[in-house]
Amino acid sequence: MTALDRASGAGVETGAVVKADGYGLGAAEVARTLARAGARRFFVAVAEEGAAIRAALGPGPEISVFGGHMAGDTGLIADLGLVPMLNSPEQFARHLAALPGHPFGIQLDSGMNRLGMEPADWAAIRADALAAEPRLIMSHLACSDEDTTGFNRKQLACFRDMTEGCGVPRSLSATGGILLGPAYHFEITRPGIGLYGALPFTEAAPVLRLSLPVIQIRAVEPGESVGYGCTWTADTRRIVATVAGGYADGILRYLTNRGTLWADGCPCPILGRVSMDLITADITDLPDIPDALDLIGPDQSVDEVAAAARTIGYEVLTSLGPRYTRRHVGAAAP
Ligand SMILES: *Cc1c(COP(=O)(O)O)cnc(C)c1O
Repeated sequence: MTALDRASGAGVETGAVVKADGYGLGAAEVARTLARAGARRFFVAVAEEGAAIRAALGPGPEISVFGGHMAGDTGLIADLGLVPMLNSPEQFARHLAALPGHPFGIQLDSGMNRLGMEPADWAAIRADALAAEPRLIMSHLACSDEDTTGFNRKQLACFRDMTEGCGVPRSLSATGGILLGPAYHFEITRPGIGLYGALPFTEAAPVLRLSLPVIQIRAVEPGESVGYGCTWTADTRRIVATVAGGYADGILRYLTNRGTLWADGCPCPILGRVSMDLITADITDLPDIPDALDLIGPDQSVDEVAAAARTIGYEVLTSLGPRYTRRHVGAAAP
């Protein structure tokens, strides 16, 4: 949080994106930790996610909803004091009719074609919307971490065109956009992944450790195989540890015979298939029998796990299932 605040720059507020259960890490604890680090503004994807955040933080902090004001959400938005980012003229009309005077923001589509009002939608309601005093006007970048065609600059120009002279705080950048520099920061930034220690924010502190307890150890003799489908067969005698964790816990099955667990700097290759609840790994070279092996930690980052699983850190984190005990060790002082 502190490092991203610095990257956002002086006079820019860093909001915290805590959708998808705080990127899989536990929304309530993550929100409390970020609030202790100074965050006063939080973003979730859908209104339902606001409940855990509001319960964790109490009435003060602002909680905004990217999905806007959906039919059926009025009660939640009112009761939890959420700020919907209105995505269409229909949502704007719904919000004004259902909750006149209740705070809202506007989400504009500056080229991603995913969520938000397109320029013509916005032009049609802009005067009415500004008269109702939105808290925030935001848009989202499609290519902030991999722009090869100048798309960021196009979106920036489009966002400026649509919002110049509005007199409302603006927000364009998630983690990737923060790294593009001050032109992209406006008044408020919206990092998610960078808060949780993964790319594209390379200065992120490694905030996460995922340890899997060892349940059982066995010797596997040459010619014996391990796991479902007998996909791995020993050619020399190996010591194999079976750890508690599997694809039901978000440890992607693609890591079968490919991924690595770690014990204090020593790699322990995954042998055989990742199954629903269990993984088998080679601990032959370890000096002692470990209590647990790490999938994520000082020896292997979220992004290294993602690369081995042919995905991105976002998917690794948000796949983490409900069976882990999540221990939160607090944030550094801001
Ligand atoms: C998820 C999301 C963010 C956060 O993105 P990161 O890449 O995790 O920093 C910001 N804004 C919107 C609209 C999002 O959907």
